[in-house]
Amino acid sequence: MYNFEKMSQGIIMSKKTLNQKTLIIGAGGVGNVVAFKCAMNAQTFGEITLASRTLSKCDTIAKNVKEKVGIELNTATVDADSVPELIKLFKTLKPNIVINVALPYQDLTIMDACTESGIDYLDTANYEHPDTAKFEYKEQWARDDAFKKANIMALLGSGFDPGVTNVFCAYAQKHYFDEIHTIDILDCNAGDHGYPFATNFNPEINLREVSAKGRYWEQGKWIETKPMEIMQVWDYPEIGEKDSYLLYHEEMESLIKHIKGLKRIRFFMTFGESYLTHMKCLENVGMLGIKEVEHKGMKIVPMEFLATLLPDPASLGLRTKGKTNIGIYAKGIKDGKEKSVYIYQVSDHEKCYEEVLSQGVSYTTGVPAMIGAKLMLEGKWQNKGVYNMEQFDPDPFMQELMVQGLPWKVIK
Ligand code: NDP
Repeated sequence: MYNFEKMSQGIIMSKKTLNQKTLIIGAGGVGNVVAFKCAMNAQTFGEITLASRTLSKCDTIAKNVKEKVGIELNTATVDADSVPELIKLFKTLKPNIVINVALPYQDLTIMDACTESGIDYLDTANYEHPDTAKFEYKEQWARDDAFKKANIMALLGSGFDPGVTNVFCAYAQKHYFDEIHTIDILDCNAGDHGYPFATNFNPEINLREVSAKGRYWEQGKWIETKPMEIMQVWDYPEIGEKDSYLLYHEEMESLIKHIKGLKRIRFFMTFGESYLTHMKCLENVGMLGIKEVEHKGMKIVPMEFLATLLPDPASLGLRTKGKTNIGIYAKGIKDGKEKSVYIYQVSDHEKCYEEVLSQGVSYTTGVPAMIGAKLMLEGKWQNKGVYNMEQFDPDPFMQELMVQGLPWKVIK
């Protein structure tokens, strides 16, 4: 069990925070970071349990957290595709919040178990059906009434992108503009893990996203492009110029609803030549397929088989060097004058590993997940229903980023 005495060294804890219980679901690369960061903020998160499909992965993370941070985590096994199994676990643990960092396929089951059990919910990626490589908020937003009726809150997309990028947009809107007209979200990962081909987060989710058609929003309409059809070179501070490709990305769906006066929003991500060449070859031979095929009397999904062969993203930490830079470039008007602002955050893969034994992509996702949950537990971001990040006051989140390992900068 949890040792509060050790945990509270140097920290005055209120009775309320002593009673908090936190459940993290998913023990992958991101789950590892969330577990570390919640443990480092144990005065808010209280008793922490890490649950996932494979118990040994939870136990390894718990052991590392204990060694590096001195906090005991409870561990549990759960199949998050099963609502009854989740409800059973929730009944035993009685958490105040569930942080979902399993896969997007589990969003709806975990949300439904939360409404059944009256527990706040947070995730980092929007729902996707395993059989359709299309992600959208429709089904999660449709649960708004259920969350309101259950008197609880869901915070959607509290990673980096979506997540911090939404908060950057809300911050720009609050502090720099009367109206924002265009936003470009720029995601650069200049990290090198030394493998010819690997993905920085779950391979299946990553490849489904990247091989899909591109899409951006302009003058009220979505404009579709072929995969990787639009390339633009952006000059990223602390990294330099990089080829960046236009992709569809989920935060655009909520930002077009919540940023007033917006005329265009696009999302760009950098890819190296080796990544793109491998992806094209794999796609050409059918390895990115998500429908079952028969192989020697067995049914297999090519993409799932490929994910089994690729390096586990959680294992890339030790080998990855270089930096990430993710930000938003917004243009609009303030006091009748045209203005542009670039808000960005730079992380160093090796420094992330030093702190929490994970590479930068898991780090930049896991830290905002912890911050979103922290603000919910502290009552700073609280309301009943289903919310996206930009719907809350960005200031407390931006302050937390500065002190929790993701300091940001603004170029005006
Ligand atoms: P991983 O594949 O490394 O980890 C996923 C974890 O979820 C694994 O431990 C897996 O268990 C567990 N899991 C999968 N299915 C189930 C299930 N049915 N029941 C219980 N546990 C399950 O992924 P990542 O850590 O890289 O990514 C986690 C999430 O973060 C994803 O949703 C991803 O899309 C999101 N993400 C968001 C980003 C953002 O900026 N917003 C950026 C990067 C990722 P097992 O190991 O047993 O298979």
